[in-house]
Amino acid sequence: MNDCIFCKIINGDIPSATIYENEEFKVILDRFPANEGHVLILPKEHSANIFEINPEQAGRLFVLATKIAREMKTILGLEHLNVMQNNGTVAGQTVFHFHLHLIPRYENDGITIAYKPMDLCDAQIEDMRKKLEMSI
Ligand code: AMP
Ligand code: ZN
Repeated sequence: MNDCIFCKIINGDIPSATIYENEEFKVILDRFPANEGHVLILPKEHSANIFEINPEQAGRLFVLATKIAREMKTILGLEHLNVMQNNGTVAGQTVFHFHLHLIPRYENDGITIAYKPMDLCDAQIEDMRKKLEMSI
């Protein structure tokens, strides 16, 4: 993808603060972080989002994410961390190359990654459960 900023980072065409790399993934610091130590895990193969990524690759990515998160915990002395992954503009995606955010959190850090819970009744939950019940 020649107009994808993360493909350019992966190819070394634009610089990045890389903290880990293997054949399949590159792990970098977010250039405009929500908090210090905000990490992005990028698959080297381009796919736009969760609807496109190879499911097995997504699985391997999450295995790596657990390892990176534990290293961050040790190195930064973390107790709290958000894992975030946005798909589509309405969901907040700005770079259309699949990536996972690991965002360190500290007491009173003032960062909001939140939603306001809806007040649904049991029937509404059941309607949606019926709609979404699936065999994969
Ligand atoms: P999202 O909004 O989930 O698509 O996340 C895209 C992320 O990429 C944002 O957190 C940006 O700060 C980050 N970002 C954009 N450009 C760069 C860059 N050149 N290097 C590192 N991170 C970047
Ligand atoms: Zn890309």
